[in-house]
Amino acid sequence: MKTLLFSLCIFISSLGIIVYANGSEPKEGSRIVILLGPPGSGKGTQAIRLTKSLGIPQISTGDLFRENLGQGTDLGKKAKAYMEAGKLVPDELVLDMLFDRVARPDCAKGYLLDGFPRTIPQAEALDKKLAAGTNLVVLNLQVADEVIVKRAEGRLTCKKCGNIHHREFSPPVVEGTCDKCGGELFQRSDDTASVVKERLKVYHEQTEPLVDYYQKKGVLVNINGEKAPDAVYNDLMKALEKKAE
Ligand SMILES: [Zn+2]
Repeated sequence: MKTLLFSLCIFISSLGIIVYANGSEPKEGSRIVILLGPPGSGKGTQAIRLTKSLGIPQISTGDLFRENLGQGTDLGKKAKAYMEAGKLVPDELVLDMLFDRVARPDCAKGYLLDGFPRTIPQAEALDKKLAAGTNLVVLNLQVADEVIVKRAEGRLTCKKCGNIHHREFSPPVVEGTCDKCGGELFQRSDDTASVVKERLKVYHEQTEPLVDYYQKKGVLVNINGEKAPDAVYNDLMKALEKKAE
């Protein structure tokens, strides 16, 4: 293959065609995918499938903190100082961690951002840092509050293996018992209506304004997140293909 490419290059050069400017290879367009949507909209599940299909890593702020604090990097030490003082870690510092991480080769084709940005100031700070011409796609999973509450209230988690059932949508064969391992099913304390509604309230106040923000930039695609997970996944992939054209 290498020899073939080499002879091809010689052939093209002999025709006097300038193939690469400055002798550098053309870079495949890297893309940044942001998944928006309320807590409980299925973002996590879809993120795992998307990054697998696209061959790009998922970058979450949680992982960035764990890595930098765990390895005691300079950025990690700075973040730790804020945390120990009981202060919020500034967005700028989070962005420094992010751009430190995405400079690695596994992000050459792009990456999927998980849990960031969550607020308008964070989105603005991210915009400032992104190089001009970056291919940014924001996928917005639309799921009504009632649907999210209903999903959460019926969710049953296995104590033993973490497998998830739903009273209505995927009931276990034997009531109260996990289909996978026979473990006991229970309702997590954060799956109650009041906890879910509180989380939704925070989302509507802080994060939902990002929908408008990215809409105005022309990079947003709305996806109906109330469909079955496979159908949602297909719609997300279709939207990404369309945006890449
Ligand atoms: Zn189980």
